[in-house]
Amino acid sequence: MYCPFCGAEDTKVIDSRLVAEGGQVRRRRECLSCRERCTTYELAELVMPRVIKSDDTREPFDEKKLRAGLLRALEKRPVSIDQIEDAISHVQHKLRATGEREITSRMIGERVMIELRGLDEVAYVRFASVYRSFQDLREFRDELDRLERKPLEGSKESP
Ligand SMILES: [Zn+2]
Repeated sequence: MYCPFCGAEDTKVIDSRLVAEGGQVRRRRECLSCRERCTTYELAELVMPRVIKSDDTREPFDEKKLRAGLLRALEKRPVSIDQIEDAISHVQHKLRATGEREITSRMIGERVMIELRGLDEVAYVRFASVYRSFQDLREFRDELDRLERKPLEGSKESP
């Protein structure tokens, strides 16, 4: 967009965040010519980014898929449906807040892992094992070790 101060064509987005409960994206921009800064507000209604799959094809973001992945990982775990729904909207907010029009499926997976990690470690490991499709058992064990070394705050201490 044009700089409102000097009219230069190139402004750089330096910060991007959701406001109005996710309905808008607030962007801080800096002019590349005069270095003045301004703020824009953009509607975020349609900005669920498209997904770049690992084979480089694109597809629309699919909330059902996201939910299915979470539910699978959380099967028979002590996590309420409200917590799951919260996790789903967190993931979507975070993805929208990137301001990107396209995101990789890998980024979605990473976000989901962050959410699961906070919800339930068993689910986290389940999801990570499928999602990262660990090449061998050792890799999987490394991930488990990593988990044990860095227990979440408030979780039980390992012996
Ligand atoms: Zn300017």
